[in-house]
Amino acid sequence: MLQTMIVGSLPRPTWLAPEGQQMHVNWNLEAAKLREAHDDAVRLAIADQEEAGLQILTDGEQRRKHYIWGFTEGLDGIDFSRLVKITTRGGRYGESLVDAARVVTPVRRRGSVMAEAVRFMKQHTSWPVKVTLPGPMTTTDTLADEYYGSRQKLAAALAQQLNDEAIELAEAGADIVQFDEPCFNIYLDEVEEWGIRTLEEAAKGVRAKTAVHICYGYGVPIVLKWKTTNTDWSHYGRTLPLLRTSAIDMISVECAASGVDPSVLAEARGKDLMVGVIDVGAEEVETPETVAARIRRALPYVDPMHLYPCTDCGMIPRSRAAARGKMKALADGAWLVRSELIQQSRKGSTVMGYKPSA
Ligand code: ZN
Repeated sequence: MLQTMIVGSLPRPTWLAPEGQQMHVNWNLEAAKLREAHDDAVRLAIADQEEAGLQILTDGEQRRKHYIWGFTEGLDGIDFSRLVKITTRGGRYGESLVDAARVVTPVRRRGSVMAEAVRFMKQHTSWPVKVTLPGPMTTTDTLADEYYGSRQKLAAALAQQLNDEAIELAEAGADIVQFDEPCFNIYLDEVEEWGIRTLEEAAKGVRAKTAVHICYGYGVPIVLKWKTTNTDWSHYGRTLPLLRTSAIDMISVECAASGVDPSVLAEARGKDLMVGVIDVGAEEVETPETVAARIRRALPYVDPMHLYPCTDCGMIPRSRAAARGKMKALADGAWLVRSELIQQSRKGSTVMGYKPSA
């Protein structure tokens, strides 16, 4: 119980990506050396997670220049040579227009995008491995459609490609395939009308646990500004009941930095819940006690066997030192609560899994 993991990304070493370019990078290395550099960065990401004491690992998304482009660049039908400006995320976070690639013909994978990366992970750790993909709705929201004519149609086409990819990632050894859908917190009507169904299409037949990550985006200033002024978190009352009856196994909810009341988690009872107990918007490292307190707040609403203490979102904007500290606090905080629960249950004298170092 209380198995720990991060949402997905970790900051990249500065020899791999220039500082200040963490979100959408131009690699520091020429193509010939990039493969080796990515492998090395992934080995470090694995080592950092293992050293911290996490129990489910990702590759820190070290190979991706961006969490969505990392997949869409593997598709035919999208023109990256001439970008256009679009509004994304409903303009919620106050960004000005952003560069978007254009969908110009049917989208189609040229081949597996991440299966080799999953096989590399499985060769270098014995812990369960999670791999992340952008969800169909969020991917749709990040592209300029000049072919399909409707968001729903583009999302359905992307879901088919994501499904083919997810099935291959599971075959390659992924234990969890997670779809990142921050847009599930924004376009609530569309989530009801076609978002959940399209997500299920992306996850259909995948022989691994399937997960969805819902959040308010990376801990960057414009997002933090919105988060600190928002007071209405009632949207979970609409999305979680829909996800509870969906085919998706696990749901990731940001609970540390946002003001989300953990009682909303009761709406997803029965599902596995990745509960965000690490704020990814601040360099300050939480104490294990703070993390433990955040986990305890969720316990009335989530069975501990279904509760996965997690970060709020990706840690890519953070320093590597802060990310390492936060992962250790996550593991140690979960250990504190796990120990308490085991003592309370009096069902065993040993604590399974991680023990914090002195
Ligand atoms: Zn996120």
